[in-house]
Amino acid sequence: MAIKSSKTKDLTRLIRPEVRKLKAYFIDETSYRIKLDAMENPFSLPDDVKQEAIDAVKSAPFNRYPDPSAKRLKEAIAELWGIGTQRMVLGNGSDELIQAIILAFGGPIIIPVPTFALYEISAAVLAQHVVTIPLKKDFSLNTDKLLKKANDVKAKIIFLASPNNPTGNRFSDDAVLKILDKAKAAVVLDEAYFSFSNKTFLPMLKDYPNVIILRTLSKIGFAGLRIGVLTASPKIVGYLNKVRLPYNINILSQVAAEAALRRKDVLNRQISLLISARERLYNSLKQVDGVTAYPSETNFILIRTAIDASLIYEKLKESGILVKNLNRPGALANCLRVTVGTPDENNEFISSLRKILAAYRQT
Ligand code: PMP
Repeated sequence: MAIKSSKTKDLTRLIRPEVRKLKAYFIDETSYRIKLDAMENPFSLPDDVKQEAIDAVKSAPFNRYPDPSAKRLKEAIAELWGIGTQRMVLGNGSDELIQAIILAFGGPIIIPVPTFALYEISAAVLAQHVVTIPLKKDFSLNTDKLLKKANDVKAKIIFLASPNNPTGNRFSDDAVLKILDKAKAAVVLDEAYFSFSNKTFLPMLKDYPNVIILRTLSKIGFAGLRIGVLTASPKIVGYLNKVRLPYNINILSQVAAEAALRRKDVLNRQISLLISARERLYNSLKQVDGVTAYPSETNFILIRTAIDASLIYEKLKESGILVKNLNRPGALANCLRVTVGTPDENNEFISSLRKILAAYRQT
């Protein structure tokens, strides 16, 4: 039998062109002493809560498929956030729900930028057209431009992360309401950082059948469990249940999250600690020469540095502190995003940052 030439065996030619062109979502996988790059909750669960989750995992039937509609976990989330279980879809992280929304509606998709990179990446993977609309200089929405463009291109989806990643601000109620009123597209309000702003558009669900709200358990302490939450009209929920994979929430995540969510007191305490740590970090950053800190309603702060931010990023890394480097020409030139850590981690970050800037000034 003739051996086929390696050229015909190279499957690259069969990969969809849009996938060949893709730039992968970058995650720095090196481990650091202080990890302030991914908006994780820095506090671990108290031992007694952990034990409850471990006990639940221990008695879970590993040999069976998980509950396809994760009923008990949905009930726990309903109790936490007041979202009806009939109007809820869970995802393997809200990342998966973003993909499900794009699978269900398709493009064109309107995205104000800068924002969470995955909206654009997921659209590209699924070969859907994206139109980006720059935020204003103060990171507020350019509402009229966005609405006009959405109409012109007959957009199917508008993604609005509020509070927004990586800018940290919430969009004004007026701007969001105007978009909900006027747009003919599905308006996805991504409230991933809701717990740190405590403001929500959830009540709008009953008046606006065109709104889809996203939340996640990742930022409040369960990033490792991968649980995203979506709520929308029962009709939209029905369509999204058709496109999501049947057993998308594994049994370990279902039972562990359900057990941990029973302890609302622990979650609420950690969230208020993080909010006060954020305010302290913000006030300290405002006093650092050569740094502009942007106000935040999230568990991270965007900063802009007077000198090359990539250099500061590398120097922080050398001292064992990982933040997110966003430095690229345009709106995020010389910007870094720092997640709010424990008070000790934040202090260490501030003092390293001060040292790096002082050393630079001396050169
Ligand atoms: N939406 C926004 C705005 C985010 O910043 C993130 C995480 N960086 C996500 C969604 C995804 O969160 P997860 O997949 O962990 O639920």
